[in-house]
This record gives sequence, C-alpha cells and structure tokens, in this order.
Amino acid sequence: DMELHEACGVFGVLAKEPCVKIAEVIYHGLIGLQHRGQESAGMIISDGTTMKEIKGMGLVSHIMTDEMMDRLSGGKLGIGHTRYSTQGASDLANCQPISTETFRGRIALAHNGQLINKDHLRNQLLSQDIKLTTESDSEIILKILAAIMLKYSNYDPESADWMKVIEEFMNQSVLSYSFIMMTRDRLYGVRDPYGNRPLCIGRFHAEGDTTRTMGWILSSESSPFLSISAKLWREVQPGEIVCLHLSDNGDENLISHPNQNCTNKLASCLFEYVYFSRSDTILENQMVYSVRFRCGQLLAIKAPVYNADLVSCIPNSSTPAALGYSIQSTIPYVQVLIRNTYVGRTFIQPNHQTRQSSIKRKFGLLTENILGKKIILIDDSIVRGNTIIPLIQALKSAGAKEIHIRVASPPVRHPCFMGIDIPTQDELIANKVASLTQLAKKLDADSVEYLSYQDLLLAVQNDMYFTDCFIIKGIGDNSHRRGYCSACFTGEYPVSLDW
Ligand code: SF4
Repeated sequence: DMELHEACGVFGVLAKEPCVKIAEVIYHGLIGLQHRGQESAGMIISDGTTMKEIKGMGLVSHIMTDEMMDRLSGGKLGIGHTRYSTQGASDLANCQPISTETFRGRIALAHNGQLINKDHLRNQLLSQDIKLTTESDSEIILKILAAIMLKYSNYDPESADWMKVIEEFMNQSVLSYSFIMMTRDRLYGVRDPYGNRPLCIGRFHAEGDTTRTMGWILSSESSPFLSISAKLWREVQPGEIVCLHLSDNGDENLISHPNQNCTNKLASCLFEYVYFSRSDTILENQMVYSVRFRCGQLLAIKAPVYNADLVSCIPNSSTPAALGYSIQSTIPYVQVLIRNTYVGRTFIQPNHQTRQSSIKRKFGLLTENILGKKIILIDDSIVRGNTIIPLIQALKSAGAKEIHIRVASPPVRHPCFMGIDIPTQDELIANKVASLTQLAKKLDADSVEYLSYQDLLLAVQNDMYFTDCFIIKGIGDNSHRRGYCSACFTGEYPVSLDW
C-alpha cells in the first residue's frame, strides 16, 4: 500500500426524536469519514435495553447492505467506526466498535489513536487476570474502563459513574485517543489531554426546519455533517469528557466534564491539516481547505518557479494548496491528473503488470494539458515517494517539458507513535538523500522544494479566532489554548519516548 494512513474515524449519534433512523445516520456518518480508514467498518446501536451490531471487512457501502441495515432497525443511539489498522491485524476480530459486559451493564467503544503506554497497560490488565483476545489498543481501553468500574462499584456502588471511570483512565494514559463510549442509554465523547486526535460535536435538525433538534452527533470530523443535516456545535476540548443523554422528560443533556489533571501542553496532530482531514472539515474554527490554500500561497512566495506554464496538483488533497500557489504566483491552475474515484479495494491478487501500475490505476492523464509544458506540481506531503515517482514518470512520458515539485508541508523524517502509519526512518524518502538536488534526481523531477515548518505553523494559525459560543462553561480558557504535535517533521514528540 502506497499512501499514508490515518488510524480510524469514529462516529456516534443520540436521537432526540423517535423518528430518527439511527443506523442510517451512522451509515452516512461513516461514508463521510471513509477517507480515515478503508479496511473495515462497523456499528453498534442500542434501543435503550439491548445492543445490536454489524461489522465487516472493506468499505462501508460493501458491508452495510440493505439486508444488514434491516437487522438494525429501531434504536435510540449508536456508534460507528471505520478502520485502518495501525495496531493489531487487519481482520474481523479487530473490527470496531467493540463491546463488553461490565458491572454497570454492557458498554461499546469506537476508538481512534494509539496508546503510547500500551505495553504497561496490557501488562497491568494481564496481571489482574483480565483476558485480552486481540492485539488492539481499543480492547485495552474497554477492559480498563470495565475494571475501573468494577473497582468503584465494589467500593461505593451508589457513586460509581462512567465520568469518574473515564477520568481515571485518562490519568493512566495521556496519549493518544479520541473515543466514543456507549452505554445502553448514553454516549460519552472523550479526547486525550493533549488533544492529539480530533473529535467534534454536531447537532442535527429536521429537513427544512433548522430550529427542530433531531439529535446529537459525535464525530472525528465535521465532514459528514452536510449529508445528515447536521451543524458543527463545537469541538470536544483536549482532556474533556462529554456525556450525551436524554433525561426522563425527553430533553437532551450535554454534560461537559473537564479533566482537572489536563496537561498544559497541547499536541493536536498537524497532519490533520496537511493530509488526513477532508478539506471541508472545520478544525479549531477554521476550514482545513483554507489552511491548505495558505500553505500553497506561502509556498509560492518562498519557493517560486519562473516562467512555468501551469500549476497543478496530485488530486484531491493537494488541490487547495495548488490553487493557493496559482493565485499567489498568478500562474494558471490547470489539471494534469484526474483521480479515478471508482478504484475501490480489490481482492483479486495482482499479477506482475497490475502490481506495477497500482498507482497509475488510480489516476488518469489529461495529456493535452501536459505536452510541452513546464509544470509546477504541488503535493501535500511526500512520505516514501511511492506515489509521486510513478506519476512523474507518467507525466514525462506524456511529454511534460519540466516538472518542478513543490510540497505543501515540511519533509517527513520521523515515525509517528500516535496512531498514524508513518514508516520507519529508513523508509522515509527525505532521509535517503543528502540534499534537495539529490531528491530531485531520485524523483526524476527538475527541482523539489518543501514548505518550512515555520510556514506550516503560520498557515495553520493565521486565521484563528474564537467566539463566545466556543468557550465552554467549566473549561474557560482551555478553548483558547492550542499547540501542535509536529513530531513526524521535527522529531519533537509531545512526551519523551521511553517505551
Ligand atoms: S507525529 Fe505527525 S502524524 Fe503523528 S500525531 Fe504527530 S503530527 Fe500527527
């Protein structure tokens, strides 16, 4: 597999109105998060008493057929998950959401991220004779939550509640997770104290009546919201636990519980802006598209190419940066590649020829736009170089005169331990060469330049503003805090690497 992978998308819904079809809302939510993981998907829904689930390998639309969805009719709340495996094998046993029985009834969990102290937590569970059946971090979280609840309930059954349980888990493990936990009648949205993985809250309304609340959403990104008539309410804050539930009179409650031990340091993943999130997603109150556009503008200022005929990109995540470069440089934006959106996953074993051309199968060439042209090609990031090398070859063989690569992020030089599948240092192309001239040679390009780390930060922070509606009671100044993980670019990890 050639590209960089996110570790998952999580989605949860709580219906206020009984007519809401929970399984359908989750289906559309997962389709809107499909870019975060394509290996497996699943959902678990609760009717207030029992939980039902579907899970499978492959894309959401392949797994959640009409027949499967019929099995999940009804329900008042539910959670869903799309997965790319970073921990644990890519098989059905590791599909999420997962669930377990606890002292306080069944709980289900959908998780995005990777626990940095996983080995310690695993040993702790095993030493208490708690069995683990998979290699996944998500099972560790689930079993720890169940174990803490048991401890609290033995000590004081009256006051044992999930907010306290989750808070204790957060004190035991600070990185990296966003997860949604479901009991038979409540949803809990949790973001780690560093805010490394994203999670937001949405409110969805009746078609044509935006004042009538139909229910509430928790989601890795706001990208699915348009498809389910939802609006972004706010992000879950770093270290925050939110609980969504209906009270006895049918009114919805959203309770926020800030983690008192929340670290002062924040480490939101910068790569969400660079590549992972969909361009229409809102992070920190700004469109991801706008940040990518500004990255392109800064790149045009800092790394110009003179007398070029056109600016183009590797679609689709590089498109906003290419447009930014074009507007800033006044060099026209012209497409040279189109992405074949229908490639999907194939389970047919590739033969020699198809294996060679797996990248080329994903793209088509707009040959008349290429012939004889001096092209500035924008890419959002270069990791191994496995995508860009065959594309440069294809553009050259279609008659491109010159190809100048401009990368809208800094060189990726370090692996990620927070849930992103970044290869080892030796596999990263930026570490295989001593200079940009050598890199250009390796890529068979005429030149290569990257956006600097300082300019990426400038692009990210440029337009940030905060309004009162984003300040949460009880958290106060936390909503103004920000800080980023840049470890894959700079080697500076949010916590010291002692595992
Ligand atoms: S190392 Fe890179 S990909 Fe991983 S969390 Fe940090 S910024 Fe994101």
